[in-house]
Amino acid sequence: MREFLRGPAVYFFVCFLFFSLSSSAENGLAVDIVDVGAGSCTIVTLPHKNGILLFDAGNWRGKHCYSAVKRAVSNSNANIKLMVVYHSDADHLGDAASILKDFEVSNLVRTGFISSSKSWEKFDAAAMEAESRGTLIFSAARQQIAGAQFLFGDVAIRILYGKSKWDGAPLSSSEARNAISVVAKLEYAGRSILIPGDTVGRDIGGASDQCAYAEGEMVLNAKKLPLASDIIIAPHHGSDSSSSSCFIEEVSPQYVIFQAGHKHGHPTIRAKDRYLASGVKLHNIFRTDRGDSESSPFDWESDVKSFCNDKAGDDAIHIAINANGEIAINYNNPEPSSCS
Ligand SMILES: [Zn+2]
Repeated sequence: MREFLRGPAVYFFVCFLFFSLSSSAENGLAVDIVDVGAGSCTIVTLPHKNGILLFDAGNWRGKHCYSAVKRAVSNSNANIKLMVVYHSDADHLGDAASILKDFEVSNLVRTGFISSSKSWEKFDAAAMEAESRGTLIFSAARQQIAGAQFLFGDVAIRILYGKSKWDGAPLSSSEARNAISVVAKLEYAGRSILIPGDTVGRDIGGASDQCAYAEGEMVLNAKKLPLASDIIIAPHHGSDSSSSSCFIEEVSPQYVIFQAGHKHGHPTIRAKDRYLASGVKLHNIFRTDRGDSESSPFDWESDVKSFCNDKAGDDAIHIAINANGEIAINYNNPEPSSCS
C-alpha cells in the first residue's frame, strides 16, 4: 500500500468489498452522535451491521465514547473498519488508546502531529502497537491524506483535509492544532454527512464575510473535493472560529449538529446565526448540550431562560439514512434531563 502512496497521485483507494447490499429501508446507515460533553465521538454502523466506523474518540473523562463503541461493536458483532482521530487534543482522543487496545481496528487516519500531552502520548503508543498488530495507519506526517477514499460496500468516506503541521497564515498554537484537523465526508444512498473536526476558517469575532485558513483552502479546492453535504457536524463544536459563511455556503447543509458540552462557550450564537442566515431551519439544528445556557441566557428553541449547565450523556443524537436516501434525525431521549 505504501508503495502505491509514494507516487504523485493525490487519490488513493482502499476498497472493502462486502456482500452486495439490498435496498431494504431497514438496512440503512445508522450514525450516533455521542454526547461526550465537550468533545467529539461519532459512531457509524454500516448497513447490514457490516462494521463500525469511528470518527473521534473524545473526550478525556466519563468514558462515554468507549461505552458507546463497545455497545455498537457488540450489537453488530463486527469490528471497527475505520477510525479517524481528527487532531491531537484530548477532547478528540481521550478514549482512543483504550479503544485501540480493546478492539480490532482495520484502518486509522490521523494527522501525525506530535503533541506533548499525556493523552496524546497514550494514543500514539496505542496506535503504534495497533500498527504492529496489523492496523493500517494513514498519517498526514507520512503521506498526503486529502483525497483518500475508503469504500465499505456502498458507503464511501472521503478525506477532504488533514495536515501534520499548519503551513498557512499565522495562528496561535491551539488554533494551528485545530486548523490541521482532518475533515471527512461520508456518502451513502445519495446523501452525505460532513464531519470536519475542529477546522478553522475565521478569527473569533472576525468580519461576517471572512473566509480564511483551512476552510478557505477547502472552499478554493471544492471543485476537486466537493464539500456539499446534506448534514454537517458543525466544526469545532460550534466555535466562532469556524463555520465561516463561505464554508457554509459551499457545504449548503440542510441539517446542522453541534457536538458540544458545557465548556468554552460552544456552540456560539454567531455560528448558529450563520447557519440560519444560510437557510438552515432552526428545527433542523440539533445539539448535544440541549438547554445549555453557556453562550446565551436563552435556550435557542424555547427562548426561555434555562440556566442550564449541561451534563454529558443525555443528549445523544441518532441519524438514520435508509437505502432510499431518506433522512431521520432524532434525540435518543425525547426530553433533555434536568441539569444544574
Ligand atoms: Zn475539539
